[in-house]
Amino acid sequence: MAFTVFSASVMHETHTFSITPTTLASFEACEYLKGDEIPKAMRGTRAEWGAVFDLADEFKWKMVHPLAAVAQPSGKVTADAFEHMLGIIVGALTAALPVDGVLLPLHGAMVADGHDDAEGEILKRVRALVGPKVPIAVSLDLHANATEEMASLADIVTTYRTTPHTDMYEAAERAGRLLQRAMKGEIRPTVSLANRPVISGLDRGRTISGYGPMVEMLAFVKAAEAEEPGVLDIGVNAGYAWSDVPFTGPSVLVTGDGRRPAYKALAERLAEHIWTTRARNTIGLLPMEETIAIARERAPAGAGPLLIGDYTDNPGGGGHGDGTNLIRALIEAGIEDVVVGTIADPESAAIGLRAGVGATVSIDLGGKIDPRFGGTPIRLTGKVVAVSDGIYLRKGKYATGTTGTMGPSFLLDLGSIRIIVATYRTQIDDREQFRIYGVEPEKANILACKAMNHFRADFEPMARKLIYVDSGGICSLDYAKFPWTRLRRPIWPLDLP
Ligand SMILES: [Zn+2]
Repeated sequence: MAFTVFSASVMHETHTFSITPTTLASFEACEYLKGDEIPKAMRGTRAEWGAVFDLADEFKWKMVHPLAAVAQPSGKVTADAFEHMLGIIVGALTAALPVDGVLLPLHGAMVADGHDDAEGEILKRVRALVGPKVPIAVSLDLHANATEEMASLADIVTTYRTTPHTDMYEAAERAGRLLQRAMKGEIRPTVSLANRPVISGLDRGRTISGYGPMVEMLAFVKAAEAEEPGVLDIGVNAGYAWSDVPFTGPSVLVTGDGRRPAYKALAERLAEHIWTTRARNTIGLLPMEETIAIARERAPAGAGPLLIGDYTDNPGGGGHGDGTNLIRALIEAGIEDVVVGTIADPESAAIGLRAGVGATVSIDLGGKIDPRFGGTPIRLTGKVVAVSDGIYLRKGKYATGTTGTMGPSFLLDLGSIRIIVATYRTQIDDREQFRIYGVEPEKANILACKAMNHFRADFEPMARKLIYVDSGGICSLDYAKFPWTRLRRPIWPLDLP
């Protein structure tokens, strides 16, 4: 018998301290696919939707898929945008009823105006339509701030197990396979949640070095899944720090067959590792002077570039992506052969594009969104050496096969420094982002990237060294700097030792 499966996704990681509202245009600029556009763009990719369509083929599901929307991390999703997208989902689901199951790839750290727990709200409306018996499966980003509401409204929750996130496909696949078993009546899954009072934990979920709190946690998870009767999947979330909502922080979600107190006990036992490892991190941020000192070090030929992650201004974490402090310091220090990816500045991008390849332009670059964080605009004169629509196909291990866009953009050549000046805020996550401007990233002396974790999948293997700088952006790890009002207290590291 062929099941009808309803699937939709709205994904956003919301930096509630960002002054940049997330509108419908923010989703349209990033990824906003409706109906048949979704399989066209997503079949064959290693993103969640790639798994959804592969499972649909395997199990002969009749699919209803009205919307796949993603926006770059930024401020709260506006009520208009949220209600508009929910309207599409609710409308399509109402028209499709009855359905046998629901599969929702979500992020888990979205905040909308009026809804601290935006994913909980999506689940509430979907549950109200399908009733209590139709299984709902959710896959989450590892940086979800999971809630009791999500746990009680969903029957199955899976989470990525890698940072950089190279297993989006696998997380959705696990959710979909459990959904199939639930639709067949083989299992009756429930979700149990446990958390600890920590703003962000488990080394932010990093797994790439092969050691650290998250790697240890996943070993416990593997053992528990093998040994604990009835356990179907365990999701571990590192949490997303820059969100002023009561439930911000790491959590463990145990999906088990039936309703048993043992699942909650297991979640609590695993969550203890969140607490005991709260102060352990595999990376740290360097002050600017130390960063520049390392940038001055001479490298042997063929050693690969020095990777500088401009951590606190990373659009992928909610940063403005137009901070200038790092560029300013590199120019002042006279560092040679640097490529900066990217500075989001639509005004400057338009000036360069209007002038065209070969022209010399003077621009006041960056620092426009909120110059209190990351630096004021910087006056630069240089040559336009390449222009692009900013669209790139990811070939590295992060979201392989999917398309990203930096928007209309150009490469500004200052002589010793080249800068990608882009229309949209975009993190660096794939070498193709440099190649579309004719830059060979492997050959640069230094790549200065608005990035935190995901770029490590494609860039670290060819780099001579990776360092992170604190350039004063809004993704600061000094949490005491933020004006918290909604966060639950007491919490580590603000109140608890
Ligand atoms: Zn994440």
